[in-house]
Amino acid sequence: MALVSINPATGKEIQSYPQHSSIEVKYILDQSVVAQQQWKNTSLELRNSCLEQLAGILRDRAKEYSILMAEEMGKPVSQGLGEVEKCASLCEYYKEEAFGFLADKSVEIAGQKSIISIQPMGLILGVMPWNFPFWQVFRFAIPTITAGNGAILKHASNVQGCAFAIEKSFKDSGFPENIFRNIVVPGREMEEVIKHPAIAAITLTGSTPAGKSIAMTAGSVLKKTVLELGGSDPYIILEDANVDLAVDACISGRILNTGQSCIAAKRLIVTENLYDTFLSKLEDKLSDKIMGDPKDDVDIGPMVSIEARDEVHDQVCRSIEAGAKLKLGGIIPKEVGAFYPITLLSEVEPGMTAFDEEIFGPVFTVIKARDEANAIELGNQTEFGLGSAVFTSDLEKGESIAKTQLNVGACFVNDFVKSDPRLPFGGIKESGYGRELSIYGIMEFVNVKTIVVKNA
Ligand code: NAP
Repeated sequence: MALVSINPATGKEIQSYPQHSSIEVKYILDQSVVAQQQWKNTSLELRNSCLEQLAGILRDRAKEYSILMAEEMGKPVSQGLGEVEKCASLCEYYKEEAFGFLADKSVEIAGQKSIISIQPMGLILGVMPWNFPFWQVFRFAIPTITAGNGAILKHASNVQGCAFAIEKSFKDSGFPENIFRNIVVPGREMEEVIKHPAIAAITLTGSTPAGKSIAMTAGSVLKKTVLELGGSDPYIILEDANVDLAVDACISGRILNTGQSCIAAKRLIVTENLYDTFLSKLEDKLSDKIMGDPKDDVDIGPMVSIEARDEVHDQVCRSIEAGAKLKLGGIIPKEVGAFYPITLLSEVEPGMTAFDEEIFGPVFTVIKARDEANAIELGNQTEFGLGSAVFTSDLEKGESIAKTQLNVGACFVNDFVKSDPRLPFGGIKESGYGRELSIYGIMEFVNVKTIVVKNA
């Protein structure tokens, strides 16, 4: 069997990648175990020099990589360039911070020397999605490898070109040959790999059902998991908000990656007094947005596949049948490719698909709230708990709502949600558990070891 990359803008096959057999996967894991045993004893100076070279290689190849992303999953090239730059800055962040994060820490206890030592766990398996095909992989692999682990990538079936390009970027940056390896295996056949004794722990970024499946398999052999899953982020626009700022942030937060982001602005909840103004400004600004070939200067490209587009369209149709009003888009274009227009739904309420489900595409969902309390209640009315935003000119109030009232992993006041190497990233509830990035990310896959030394 082979995994096939198809260009979603043209429907044409790009390349097919033969699946690794069970024996080939075991051979790769054996080689990676040997590489990790040596890597864990290397100095941080050496690891940092590899990180620095990798950042340089990413920047040199940014154009090539962004075209690859455009071809394999439809991301506009301008956004792909930003994604590769972010990966480079992630390498630099951990290069700067690794010494502090991984250094031994002493604890003063009378009569003994007490040390907390951070040790790697072994090989970490990353099961990754196609939507940010570089960033998601680097976000797991860089802290993991910097801490002395090896990384095994199982990338989404449709972006194997990106997966192999990333593998090569590590090799070309001075990292040992087998410290980062890609395996070509479809998701439904991952059970044996997860259970393989060479794999110490697993991190998955993807859908909630995939997360549950992996967690069950990993749990059966007592392996740790970190799960970054779906989201239906509420953006709450309160009556004292700067409406123009809120509209712009909601647009940026929703159309990035053609709406296919876990932390997209998925439910825009607007208090009654601002609702009409917000809606008409949003509709105006969205009308100017350009959809087209991701290699051109466009706001949105095609969606990842015809199947994904049809699923989004079905969610839109079900919402309209349940009473949502269609203000823009909502019609599948006649052109070839997995294109879906920017779509705006208003009068959305709980019980409608657009409120209850995650819509993974360029669909704006506007919901009316009676007041602040009702807006917060609606915001929390979801099985997910990933990101969120609050728009208000009262910054103290915004911070307080963010801290204590929204049940999420992140809340941005007067901005759209974005990941940043310096800040922890992750969710609660059906959005998963564990954190990536910052010190919290690097600490997920280490053995925090206690060492006590007493005089003999
Ligand atoms: P998906 O189907 O869950 O795929 C993600 C990865 O999991 C792919 O590599 C896939 O492999 C693999 N996979 C699927 N089922 C599996 C199973 N039972 N066992 C092992 N591996 C399995 O996700 P998607 O639909 O492509 O991506 C969109 C979802 O990811 C959305 O819900 C989005 O919100 C979420 N997401 C979350 C974050 C976050 O940080 N929280 C970031 C991005 C995306 P195959 O491709 O071979 O099936």
